Formats: sequence, structure tokens, C-alpha cells
Amino acid sequence: MSDLMKAAVVESFSQDLRIEKVPVPTPGPFEALVRVEFSGVCHTDLHAARGDWPVQPSLPFVPGHEGAGTVVAVGDRVTRVHVGQKVGNAWLAAACGECDFCESGWETLCPQQQNSGYSLNGSFGEFMLVDSRYCPIIPEGVDLASVAPVLCAGVTVYKGLKRTDTKPGDWVLISGIGGLGHIAVQYAVAMGRQVAAVDVDDAKLALAQRHGAAVVVNAREVSDPAARLQELTGGGVHGALVTAVNGHAFPQAVGALRRGGTVVLVGLPPEQFPLDIFTTVLFGLTVRGSIVGTRRDMAEALDFFARGKIHPTITTRPLADINDVLHELEEGRVDGRVVVRCD
Ligand code: NAD
Ligand code: ZN
Ligand code: ZN
Repeated sequence: MSDLMKAAVVESFSQDLRIEKVPVPTPGPFEALVRVEFSGVCHTDLHAARGDWPVQPSLPFVPGHEGAGTVVAVGDRVTRVHVGQKVGNAWLAAACGECDFCESGWETLCPQQQNSGYSLNGSFGEFMLVDSRYCPIIPEGVDLASVAPVLCAGVTVYKGLKRTDTKPGDWVLISGIGGLGHIAVQYAVAMGRQVAAVDVDDAKLALAQRHGAAVVVNAREVSDPAARLQELTGGGVHGALVTAVNGHAFPQAVGALRRGGTVVLVGLPPEQFPLDIFTTVLFGLTVRGSIVGTRRDMAEALDFFARGKIHPTITTRPLADINDVLHELEEGRVDGRVVVRCD
């Protein structure tokens, strides 16, 4: 192993990533060094590279939090993973393990958490470090390019769907059929929900239908998408998951709810939206946010994949294409998920 590796580095929020030679990191006591084979490209990587959010990453950094590869070295206190094992990174890189949130199975809310490809270097490189106590363990024998998108998109929508408090047979709306949304349709179908899908692009809606959506609405072509969804679902959806990267999608999803329904916000456009107090109160609506998933959610989401219930639509590209891929994501031109080959 040489001491240098190739990685895609963000040096400024206003410039493209640069493919550079950087030192291969050395694992600390609980860490594992992983040779990355594939990494999914999440819209969060784009928000990170552009510095979109209130808390920005410190420059320079390597994005990527859907990396899948093989453990090549471990720190001296590592017991959970071994050399040769397939593991991934995830947005939740590590948490403190001791706060009220960590103690109660909500490590995703830990104020001390570290995030891959944001507060720590991520998977857009030939090697990455993971915390062996938190990294996803990839089930044996699965295709690493296909499983990569489960590590963020999959676990996030799986957890988000659970948080809609719906049951089998209920209608759920998936708003935004991109990387997260097209996988959300599949988890929802696997969980026995009836799926309504909304996007602003017919190609994305066709993808939703291929993955099992029963009804689809193009929000750009229908004058009142919420009313149309109320009609198509016989009185509104029981739950909604908003993955769209556009503020308009959020009040539309609230408007599509049936009385007593829950909307789960997952997409992170740096915007606000108005919430009608009267309707929210009288119809007993719930609006909540959801951030990725815990280690337990991750194991469950990966198990759905291993049992053949989830088939991300992926396009594989070399890491060298990362800037083109981010531009395509920005312009809404990605079908499903792009997975970059890092080795
Ligand atoms: P993506 O770019 O692949 O998909 C976004 C989709 O939204 C596209 O299909 C686009 O056509 C659609 N869209 C745009 N405007 C719309 C509108 N008005 N109505 C409906 N659909 C519309 O992005 P992604 O990788 O799926 O990520 C989606 C968002 O989720 C990002 O903001 C990302 O940062 C966020 N995210 C959140 C979490 C979390 O834990 N909460 C985890 C991962 C990603
Ligand atoms: Zn992500
Ligand atoms: Zn904690």
C-alpha cells in the first residue's frame, strides 16, 4: 500500500472538487481502514460541497457517506469488524454513546455525533476510516455497487417511513423520486403500503411506477397537486415522506394528508414553508423531521436489501467524473442514484 491515495476534495464552497493525492489515514484504536470500492452520491454531498446549510463543514474535506468496501487494517481495540470484511460508512459516523439520546436508542440525535463526509472525511477516495462501533456491516455476498445507496438513501427512507406511523394497506405519499425517493417507493411497497408518488419530472414518475407506485402526480403539470392526491387516494394519504429538494413540495405534502395523517420531512432544501395552524389543529396532523437512521434501523434496512426486496436503480461512474455527477444532480438529471467507483 502506498502512503498516498486519490480522493475528491472540497477546497472551497464555490469551486469544483479536486481529485488530489492525500495521505492514506491511519486507524485510531476503535477505527478500521477501508479500501472503498463504491460510493453512492447523495444530494447531501452537493449541499456539503456548496456549503448550503447553517453549519458548514471545515475546509478542506472529502465528501461521501454511502461508501462500501473492504476492511484492510484495524485499530488495536477493534472487535466488531475484521480484516477482509465488507463494511460501509454512513452519515452517522460516530456518537458519544453516553448522552440521553445515545442511551435511549436515538444516537442519530446525539449532539456530539460525527458525520461522514462532513465533520469527518468521507468515502470519495480510495480509502476511508470508519468507527468500528458504528459502521454498517454489509451482509455477505451482496453486490457492493447496488448496496451502497442503502447506506444513506435506504436507511433514511426506511426510518422515515416507520416515522409516518402508517400500517400495511395505508396510503403513503413519496414526494421527490430521486435517489432517496425511488428507494422509498420500494421500502413502502415491501412494507405493504399503497404508494402515491410526486415529482416534477415524468421520467422520475415512470421510475416510481416501475418500482410499484400505484398513482403518480406531476406537480408541475397539475394546478393543485394536493387536491389531486386527495382525489386519487380516496380522501388523502395516511402518511407522507418528503424527499424533494424544493420548498414547494412540503406544504403540498401536508395538503395531501388525510385527517390524523403524518408528514415526515427528510429533504433538506435551505428554505422555510408556511404551515396552516387551523388545518393542522382541526385535522390533528403531525409534521416531523427525520434524520438518517440508527444502527438498528441500518441493520433492518440492509436486511430488506439482502432478502431481495430493494433494487436501487444505479449508474456506475468513475470517481474522476464526480463534478459532472454533482452538476447532473443539481439539475435533476440523475435517474435513481449514481454510484462512483473509487478503487
Ligand atoms: P435527488 O436530487 O436524487 O432527488 C431529489 C428529487 O426531488 C428529484 O427527483 C427532483 O426531481 C425532485 N423534486 C424537485 N422539486 C420537486 C418538487 N417541487 N416536488 C416534488 N419533487 C421535486 O436527491 P436525494 O439524494 O434523493 O436527496 C434528497 C434530499 O434529502 C436532499 O436535500 C438531501 O440532502 C436530503 N437527505 C436527507 C436525509 C435525512 O436523513 N433527513 C438523508 C439523505 C438525504
Ligand atoms: Zn445522504
Ligand atoms: Zn450521545
